[in-house]
Amino acid sequence: MLQDRLPPVRGSLTLNAPLAPFSWFRVGGPADALFRPADSDDLAAFLAALPTDIPVTVIGATSNLLIRDGGIRGVVIRLSGPFAKTSVADGVLTAGAACPDMTVAQVALQAGLAGLEFLSGIPGTIGGALRMNAGAYGRETKDVLIEATAIDRQGKTHILTPDQMGMRYRHTDTPADFIFTAAQLSGTPDHVSEIKARMEKIAASREASQPIRSRTGGSTFANPDGQKSWQLIDAAGCRGLRVGDAEMSTMHCNFLINRGAATAHDIETLGEEVRRRVKDQSGIDLRWEIKRIGDPAPSLSSLPLIEGSVL
Ligand SMILES: Cc1cc2nc3c(=O)[nH]c(=O)nc-3n(C[C@H](O)[C@H](O)[C@H](O)COP(=O)(O)OP(=O)(O)OC[C@H]3O[C@@H](n4cnc5c(N)ncnc54)[C@H](O)[C@@H]3O)c2cc1C
Repeated sequence: MLQDRLPPVRGSLTLNAPLAPFSWFRVGGPADALFRPADSDDLAAFLAALPTDIPVTVIGATSNLLIRDGGIRGVVIRLSGPFAKTSVADGVLTAGAACPDMTVAQVALQAGLAGLEFLSGIPGTIGGALRMNAGAYGRETKDVLIEATAIDRQGKTHILTPDQMGMRYRHTDTPADFIFTAAQLSGTPDHVSEIKARMEKIAASREASQPIRSRTGGSTFANPDGQKSWQLIDAAGCRGLRVGDAEMSTMHCNFLINRGAATAHDIETLGEEVRRRVKDQSGIDLRWEIKRIGDPAPSLSSLPLIEGSVL
């Protein structure tokens, strides 16, 4: 039994924990166990003592995740409150990995630090931004990162610079088992009113161009070199394409949305159908930017991925 093999913790440990209620897509099955560590020492001690055959998955705000309907085996780790603190000293903003990107942008604004405005439009956490090298409006996390702190599967702490992390477009080479716990970010002094104006511009631009109030995972596919995924998707006739209640947004056709009752299987099937149609039309293989994690629902696992009606 999994519960008999889990080390004692000071934070919270929940068995068979539902994930769909707080996932951005509002889909996905439960975690076998969900661990919210009390602090870095609790996390490190848990990882060091956890039997190595038990898989570990870390999630942030889930704004770049599609959690499959069968849920996630092993332990899911979600950093929360104790990892969401921020501080500013000498132009350096330190943020815990659970801190929302928007909060970091607001703290930078209050401190008169420019350069972190792009984070105000990204609905994830600093942990997700480090893993994905999140970026927008010409800036990426690597451009503002001084160093990140991470804990590996053995519970050992590492301090990493952007170069050591191999950060590039929506990707880092940091080993998959590293869990980021904090980041030091740099900004440059500027007038609060000017930083605020830039953040307002970002908010207005997002509101006008993205289905930000929908159940979505942001950009579904990474842009291929020199191309825009949305243009390839549009050219392949996939804007508004649906599988069940999953839809390629009519507002921004690189966004998959759950119109209400979609399953993760519907969403993934639609994404794969779009990839197939884009490949047929342009010869280009789109790469999923959204991370798909977990198992298919048991009743679906024997079915081929692309099936059912594509309307
Ligand atoms: C409406 C909308 C708009 C978006 N716009 C943008 C945009 O402009 N630019 C952009 O880059 N992205 C965008 N995204 C995608 C998403 O917000 C980013 O990728 C974000 O950085 C993900 O952060 P998260 O905390 O939600 O991570 P999650 O989605 O929970 O996880 C993403 C990946 O990060 C890993 N991860 C999360 N936390 C940690 C941690 N502490 N340590 C190690 N790994 C971790 C997970 O294992 C997973 O592999 C958008 C998404 C939405 C829904």
